[in-house]
Amino acid sequence: MTIFSKIVAGEIPCYKIAEDENFFAFLDINPVNWGHTLVIPKREEDYIFDLSDDELGGMMAFTKKVASAIKKAIPCRKVGMAVLGLEVPHAHIHLIPLQNEGDMDFRHKVENPTPEKMKEIAEKIAAGF
Ligand code: AMP
Repeated sequence: MTIFSKIVAGEIPCYKIAEDENFFAFLDINPVNWGHTLVIPKREEDYIFDLSDDELGGMMAFTKKVASAIKKAIPCRKVGMAVLGLEVPHAHIHLIPLQNEGDMDFRHKVENPTPEKMKEIAEKIAAGF
């Protein structure tokens, strides 16, 4: 079971944003920017491009709704999307609120993402989903 499957199962806590039958969204625990969110399929698959066309299409439709909720909650010009997957072997899409291209730099991290602030942000995004 991947760490993300444990989050879906409720065995590991997360700052949940939204879920449906097949997909789940939650805040990245080590955000590069406030509102940095991960979208995953509930079904375990390591590499995102090993998902079926239907599953990837469904994931994009779900991701679009999450991005819209982020944009409503976090002041930003656009919500950027990235796929890395070098660390956690469970397909995921990063959604990151952007003011400029530097906000997409994964070497930069939010300095002190306190539980209180993370909870507040997750609740704000979730309310607009
Ligand atoms: P990557 O696999 O390279 O796309 O990176 C995995 C991402 O998952 C990183 O941005 C981590 O901060 C994030 N991450 C790892 N464990 C957790 C967790 N338990 N809750 C939320 N985000 C996590």
